[in-house]
Amino acid sequence: RAKSAGGNRYELADPEADARAITRHGLTTALPAALDRGEFFIEYQPLVRLGDGGVHGAEALVRWLHPQHGVLGPDRFIPLAEHTGLIVPLGRWVLEQSVRQAREWQDRHTGAGPVRINVNLSPCQLTHPGLVSDTVDILERAGLEPSALCLEVTESALIGADDDLLKPLRRLAEMGVDIALDDFGTGYSNLANLRRLPVSILKLDRSFTQGMQQFPADPVDLKIVEGIVSLAHSLDLSVTVEGVETGAQAEQLRILGCDTAQGWYYARPGPPDRLHELALVDATG
Ligand code: C2E
Ligand code: MG
Ligand code: MG
Ligand code: MG
Repeated sequence: RAKSAGGNRYELADPEADARAITRHGLTTALPAALDRGEFFIEYQPLVRLGDGGVHGAEALVRWLHPQHGVLGPDRFIPLAEHTGLIVPLGRWVLEQSVRQAREWQDRHTGAGPVRINVNLSPCQLTHPGLVSDTVDILERAGLEPSALCLEVTESALIGADDDLLKPLRRLAEMGVDIALDDFGTGYSNLANLRRLPVSILKLDRSFTQGMQQFPADPVDLKIVEGIVSLAHSLDLSVTVEGVETGAQAEQLRILGCDTAQGWYYARPGPPDRLHELALVDATG
């Protein structure tokens, strides 16, 4: 980049932007080898039933243990993996690991009822022709029933989705796989559109949960959540809330009729054995 002696400031290099660009470039080129080298790992965050406090299952959240930069969150590398197409093999790997993990939880701990697993799908995976067959394959090889799997798709990925995009999701839903609409409420989707989508769960975005943090809760947020829950229930959808950080939020959301909750109040994302311990505590009272 040219640095003009005349001091035109807008021409000066921005070292921070450069560092970011280098890192982004570096991360992008390192991604494929990282998958081969096994640098990705998955943390699991429990999903808790608001009615009885029992562990309902867990969401799989991928991380990258980068040899130089340490642990990177998905927001750092998922967009890069989407851009390069690596998201397809990476997403398949996450699905396979998570489904196996769910089966292992079920085998090791039959007392706590079925353990369900939620896995995030990126829009690129939705358009990939192997999605249905890969998923069937992975479930069969692990011996996990389809109803124990929930695939999370963001609301924005399905906005304006045509039938071709919905077809694979519909087939999975017919097999018994749950489809959840993730980050719901952030995407300006037409609520009437919900009827068209093969989803069975709304995952209310964390921004609504944040409105419940103060006491009394933000009255507008209360009304909105109340409305979404009643609409969802009238369409036979269940409502999961994410980002629950306090007991007051949990109680408020329970009163509003939300079905399932997830957040630091219950547990941070962690290694697979953490869920095992939580479920064990739950099962033995
Ligand atoms: P998400 O699916 O909405 O996941 C929830 C995010 O909220 C996670 O961030 C989780 O760690 C965080 N979280 C959970 N409880 C709390 C809380 O009480 N307070 C706050 N402030 N945050 C909470 P994370 O792990 O950084 O993941 C970010 C996003 O990356 C996910 O958002 C998801 O969209 C995406 N992602 C994660 N794993 C995968 C994956 O395997 N494939 C794809 N395509 N996307 C993934
Ligand atoms: Mg999610
Ligand atoms: Mg979410
Ligand atoms: Mg979110």
